[in-house]
Amino acid sequence: MLRGLARAAAPALRALRARGSGSWAGVPAHVVDLRSDTVTRPGPAMRRAMAEAVVGDDDYGEDPTVRELQEEAAELLGVERTLFVPTCTMANLISVMGHCRRRGSQLLLGQDSHLHVYEQGAVAQIAGVHSEPLPDLPHGTLDLAGLERGLTRGLGSRYHPVCELVCLENTHSSSGGRVLPLDYLRQVHLLARTYGARVHLDGARLMNAAVALRVPPAHIVQHCDSVSLCFSKGLGAPAGALVGGRADFMEEAWRLRKALGGGMRQAGVLAAAALVGLADAQQVLLRDHENARQFAKGPGSGLQELASPFCSVDPSAVETNMVMVTLDGLPPAELCQRLQAVSAEEVAQTGRAVRVLLFPWTARAVRAVWHRDVSAQDTELALRKWEFVLGQLGR
Ligand SMILES: *Cc1c(COP(=O)(O)O)cnc(C)c1O
Repeated sequence: MLRGLARAAAPALRALRARGSGSWAGVPAHVVDLRSDTVTRPGPAMRRAMAEAVVGDDDYGEDPTVRELQEEAAELLGVERTLFVPTCTMANLISVMGHCRRRGSQLLLGQDSHLHVYEQGAVAQIAGVHSEPLPDLPHGTLDLAGLERGLTRGLGSRYHPVCELVCLENTHSSSGGRVLPLDYLRQVHLLARTYGARVHLDGARLMNAAVALRVPPAHIVQHCDSVSLCFSKGLGAPAGALVGGRADFMEEAWRLRKALGGGMRQAGVLAAAALVGLADAQQVLLRDHENARQFAKGPGSGLQELASPFCSVDPSAVETNMVMVTLDGLPPAELCQRLQAVSAEEVAQTGRAVRVLLFPWTARAVRAVWHRDVSAQDTELALRKWEFVLGQLGR
């Protein structure tokens, strides 16, 4: 569904990129890119850190900047060791392979989770692991009774796959960046342990969760056996992720990274960017969350206060850097197209030409994502553009 919708919006986005932001009747067009927090570009400080990074051959364990990142991250996450890898997709795959040593092992996870939907089914096609997807509840959690059924069904049976692992996602992307409650994490970990399984946390946006809960990330990670974290989302680095866990698990993770082709040489240039991302995380993510909240509900004016019959938003569901907008009688692809287009009427009416970029998310919703390249002023401009587009539709 999402793929079809994204394809529908693709020609317009391609044309837009080819043109640059452009101008309209002498008014330069201003672009506010809310498609994803992956679109950030490294700023001057990050580029300087990358240029000046001290490097070595990380395959020999000799890159001081990678080592610094791995040590600092281990401390921050409260794990014995971490390993720098190219992407969070690889971090998740390494984790699944590290926990599920037997082909045909079973993995329980949310049916809308990133690992299940967006990672090429790598756990099946590469790791030989069988996934049992469970329904994701609106808050991003899984039903504990359903989880217990999944964990126990194969126990003592020669007919069922053996459940080795539960994968959770925090923040939970498909629910709109919801934060998993600490008590839920504790309960899932206890259940898994009771039945001999482990818990991996897809923490691509773990830092968003920690900032939203106002706890150190280690408070979250303590309830898991392994964790992944992505540097190229809200932390703003151009590439990179990590896996964290116990020393024996990480020893195996190193071998798996090698097997998957994820070993890098002078990777310190990337680790340097990740270190800047971590250092800035608290400040940047707090601001992103504030901007997302502001967009949804104000104070002053927010999408909720526009009170359009075409769309609705639940401000209480805005916990981090994402806003889900539910549409009524308006196809998501059409809304996205109208938000990114500029017209003479817009310039005449508002004195501005603003392109707001968004992806359709489901058949009835669009998702907007805040990140370090979207300021409070951009947020205000995006909202005014929504107001203009909704006003046009209302006539
Ligand atoms: C983006 C993302 C990933 C994968 O990260 P890449 O670095 O793009 O491979 C995994 N899980 C979640 C929840 C994500 O949002």
